[in-house]
Amino acid sequence: MVERIYIGVAWPYANGSLHLGQIAGANLPADIFARYHRIKGNEVVMVSGSDIHGTPTTIKAEQEGVSPGEIASKYQQEFLDCWQKLGITFDLYTTTGTGNHADVTQDLFLKLLEKDYLYKHTVSQAYCPRCQRYLPDRYIEGTCPYCHSPNARGDQCEDCGKPLDAPELIGARCRICGTAPEYRDSEHFFFKLSAFRDRLLEWVTKQTHWRSNVLNFTRRFLEEGLIDRAITRDIDWGVPVPVEGFENKRIYVWFEAVIGYLSATKEWAKLQGTPEKWRDFWMDDKTKSYYFIGKDNIVFHTIIWPAMLMGYGDLILPYDVPSNEFLGIEGRKISTSRNWAVWLPDYLERYDPDPLRYYLSINMPETSDTDFSWREFIRRNNDELVATYGNLVNRVLTFTYRNFDGCVPQAGELDENSRSLLKQAEDTLDRTGELLSLCHFRETMRTAMSLAQETNRYLDEKAPWKIIKEDKQAAADSLYVAISVLSCLRTVLSPFLPFSSQKLHEYLGFEGDVEADGWKLRTPLPGQKMLEPKPLFTKLDPKLAEEEAGRLGQSR
Ligand SMILES: [Zn+2]
Ligand SMILES: [Zn+2]
Repeated sequence: MVERIYIGVAWPYANGSLHLGQIAGANLPADIFARYHRIKGNEVVMVSGSDIHGTPTTIKAEQEGVSPGEIASKYQQEFLDCWQKLGITFDLYTTTGTGNHADVTQDLFLKLLEKDYLYKHTVSQAYCPRCQRYLPDRYIEGTCPYCHSPNARGDQCEDCGKPLDAPELIGARCRICGTAPEYRDSEHFFFKLSAFRDRLLEWVTKQTHWRSNVLNFTRRFLEEGLIDRAITRDIDWGVPVPVEGFENKRIYVWFEAVIGYLSATKEWAKLQGTPEKWRDFWMDDKTKSYYFIGKDNIVFHTIIWPAMLMGYGDLILPYDVPSNEFLGIEGRKISTSRNWAVWLPDYLERYDPDPLRYYLSINMPETSDTDFSWREFIRRNNDELVATYGNLVNRVLTFTYRNFDGCVPQAGELDENSRSLLKQAEDTLDRTGELLSLCHFRETMRTAMSLAQETNRYLDEKAPWKIIKEDKQAAADSLYVAISVLSCLRTVLSPFLPFSSQKLHEYLGFEGDVEADGWKLRTPLPGQKMLEPKPLFTKLDPKLAEEEAGRLGQSR
């Protein structure tokens, strides 16, 4: 049965380069998941884009003395380049700056207004008398009223994760000049989030398949009660408010950016030449929609966006929100402002994509925070990717290629050990498929690697390189079995390590794309012509760890 899978991935702000925390948190798991479902033959759409209306983009533009649009298009280009190099296969990676996104946002706004889920309310708005401008939430800093972190922003406290309203901050100040803001009256639209609490609670309680951190966080949040929030603000950068008298205001980015999940699907459908196709992914309740995000974004995806969807009506709610915890760097929390981060473009300039995909998969922050260290990265590359998997591939393929005229050998009758290893390969395919469908990525990778280890043990015992002179058939048997396992690993690992899996696919003598073979054990035919193999991975000098770690915290 073909399943239909919608995959939404967190929208990064277009204000700076991507770093490994974002990749481990959202993009890589989403891509692995999308690739798996495509291989299975399921109908998949994976979309995301850059959030260009967020204040981080306007702040960056002000710092550099250019327009926010210029900053946004610079980073959009860089992100697209990174996705291509890292092999993140979006069906569409767009931005919130398109006319389509503005249309879809305004449609949602008007529908909620019509259904009485929006109302006007006058609020006192922060205004900096020195800068002579209204201050968006992120332009205000102060102490968090909940956890007393001294550097909370006016929209959210990064330390405790609570969304905030700027007036709640203790000792609020303008982030540009440090002056305490004044408050002036201004009329805004509010979203009746509070009206959805009971419906959300009832819905969330049924989501027992969610990760416990996501479920517990959401439930706690709902139990504390929901507060209506302003969805327009005094600023000139963003999607216009489609109501008379609001020409100088814009739709608030927290409300607007999540609509990107829907607008991007519509844009994708149009680009495909099937403009109505988005409905399959949004209106058919057999479609499963997944949202891959970091834990700081949970509330937007399990409460706010579902409430907006409930209010709009006819659109499906998230099926799962497999939010990841955080990836630290060298034992410390990532801080982009202090340059305590590994930037994706820098990594991709110096190293291959698959070793990073491997390390972030086997070390994915699925259930608790994990850490990236250069020493560990190099150790895992050398001891696991190269020594366990790469070496297995290399010794089997090179030896077979040289001794069997570059062809897959013909096996005779297989012994118990050989049959049991083939059985393990089949079981691995089933087991990893099951794990992947449940978004257990780390466990999938471990399961695949243990098949590689087992095959190394099998070959050490069979030692085809020793016995080939006395018993060529026995050598052919064990190499045939090993090649069959490699063919299995080629499939199981292709969502994780797409570049090396494609190479292995070709070395084994298969044509086309590795994904096209489906999630099945396809054994190369005896006599199948192989391609001359080269090592899949490269050993890295451990000295690089020090050099790389030395760049952290330095100016880039
Ligand atoms: Zn806090
Ligand atoms: Zn100011």
